[in-house]
Amino acid sequence: MLRVAIDGPGGTGKSTIAKAIAAKFGLEYIDTGAMYRSLALKSVRLGVSPDDEAAVEAMLENTTIDFVDNHVYLDGEDVGDLIRTNEISMAASNISKLPCVRAKVDEVSKHLAATRDVVMEGRDIGTIVIPDAEVKVFMTAAPEIRAQRRFDQLREAGKPADYDEIFADIQKRDYQDSHRALNPLRQAEDAVYLDTSNMTIEENIEAIADLIRERM
Ligand code: C5P
Repeated sequence: MLRVAIDGPGGTGKSTIAKAIAAKFGLEYIDTGAMYRSLALKSVRLGVSPDDEAAVEAMLENTTIDFVDNHVYLDGEDVGDLIRTNEISMAASNISKLPCVRAKVDEVSKHLAATRDVVMEGRDIGTIVIPDAEVKVFMTAAPEIRAQRRFDQLREAGKPADYDEIFADIQKRDYQDSHRALNPLRQAEDAVYLDTSNMTIEENIEAIADLIRERM
């Protein structure tokens, strides 16, 4: 069994690196943030507030999420393109603090990790979802660099992007994600800490590939 857990704050490059690692080692790539984003998208569409836990719970009873072949499906709809906006980033951070939401995503994620070799990325993979993962990495980078990376990513995708807004949102999300009561973002004790501020994508991939080879 080979399960690679990659955690860290937003905009660290986890998705890019995790996808490359998946391709290199023939693992399935699972983006747990995409699942939180999908639930956030549904709540925004329905006008359900993250402060109304009963309403969110009712929404979840009629919701299915899945992650197949790099695509996230919300009630059978591929929502991959709709969830990469600043609005949904914040909405995901807001809704992800609710126990019912975490339970829903955890259930799907744990099932996926139990049935195949995966590289899974998120905030609580090494601590909660796959605490016994064969390889655990905690990736981070300076907030200014993460904001710039997110800015470039949005621009490349032809989406509107404002650096100052992204930087402010990153700081707010960092705070919310690391200070929430339930399963906050934190480094697992046995995770390898990787500051990618001054690393190229190739160096970053190699650093994690080395860790995987050590375990194979
Ligand atoms: O990684 P990404 O930026 O797509 O995650 C969106 C939001 O989903 C995060 O800000 C965080 O609040 C939440 N999340 C989480 N636990 C995970 C993955 C994401 O709480 N494992």
